[in-house]
Amino acid sequence: MREENQKKKKRSAGRWGALLLALALLLASCQGPAGESLAIGSSSTTAAVSAEEDGGSAGGSGSPAGDGSGAETADGAGESSGEAGGSLPGGELTVHFLDVGQADCTLLVCDGEAMVIDAGNNADANTIKNYLNSQGITGLKYAVGTHPHEDHIGSMDAVVGIWPPETLFLPQVEADSETFRDVLHAAEEKDVPITRPVIGQTYELGGGSFTILGPLTDYGDNLNDWSIVLKFTYGDCSFLFSGDAEADAEGDLCDSGQDLSADVYQVGHHGSSTSTSPEFLEKIDPDYAVISCGVDNDYGHPHQETLDRLNGAGIEIFRTDEQGTIVASCDGQEITWSTAPSDSLTAGEMPEETSLPFETVDSVSEDADYVLNTRSKRFHLPDCSSVGTIAKSNYQEFQGDRQELIDQGYSPCGNCNP
Ligand SMILES: [Zn+2]
Ligand SMILES: [Zn+2]
Repeated sequence: MREENQKKKKRSAGRWGALLLALALLLASCQGPAGESLAIGSSSTTAAVSAEEDGGSAGGSGSPAGDGSGAETADGAGESSGEAGGSLPGGELTVHFLDVGQADCTLLVCDGEAMVIDAGNNADANTIKNYLNSQGITGLKYAVGTHPHEDHIGSMDAVVGIWPPETLFLPQVEADSETFRDVLHAAEEKDVPITRPVIGQTYELGGGSFTILGPLTDYGDNLNDWSIVLKFTYGDCSFLFSGDAEADAEGDLCDSGQDLSADVYQVGHHGSSTSTSPEFLEKIDPDYAVISCGVDNDYGHPHQETLDRLNGAGIEIFRTDEQGTIVASCDGQEITWSTAPSDSLTAGEMPEETSLPFETVDSVSEDADYVLNTRSKRFHLPDCSSVGTIAKSNYQEFQGDRQELIDQGYSPCGNCNP
């Protein structure tokens, strides 16, 4: 696996540059659209510095091996890609919440430069490819895999393969899954270094920028809480993305003193009630919320509690399960939407099959290579969705080679293809 340091030199140069700009702007009161975007950049940079001084985090502190060479690769990649198609309109930010079913994939295009946050499930590769092509995307400046669950990085290998980003962000945590390994492999093939999120670091996209807000600490086995959290700002418009971060991580974000306020909140964890805790929502104080979830999903997302919380706060709700792909546009001042908000407030329903008549195992041990169903004689990857439906009495974990299992009469699950 390739782990590369970030472009430290460039970063600090950028920060000082931004601070100087901030000073310049203070001296010569800004006006016009250019001034606005600079002012935004400088304010988030100031927050960045103080947050970094706070001691960062395990998530951000990971500056893994391979110091110098990584920076070179990153610079090289930067020259060859990172521009969106010339057909894209300038002077505008568009945020596309793609309908990828029970998963997340968001495309941001800002003044002709593009980035993606998450890349749906493995099965969404064509949907994502077609959509990015339809938008004239010819290169990505950044790709962010918020956390290594399949519904967030499933098609990241395809995205990296077609549009190798200058910078690919993944949190400092690994998953023992084929999907995760595919992403690392695609990045290696395309010489794209993996960049770990550093709290408070700000990156520019066109005239906009985003700041890394999380993850703030080591969340152990809870991959959701490891989600990269970022806030994108363009002029007066801001968008907060928190992946699948749940209440613990949200609490840490609230306690961090970082500015979480945003106009648009992409609702954490597909609208699950384990996210969007009241304090977190209060700190974001959004006007709009977007929920990315699938029709009839297995989790009953979005949960009624979340919808009630959002509605109770007077937030307009958009949801991909009802409205398909949703696009927000911002000219630096106003946000406009491709569709009217949803007014159904209908929560997802738990499918009956998931109310299982027997006890199941909550989480797979970290060192398990495979999970076996001793009754059906199938074996699964630890993150296969079927694992949660195996009765405790038939559940067994296995460490070792898949061939041993096949020799023992086990066959691979057709869903996770172990
Ligand atoms: Zn998810
Ligand atoms: Zn997740």
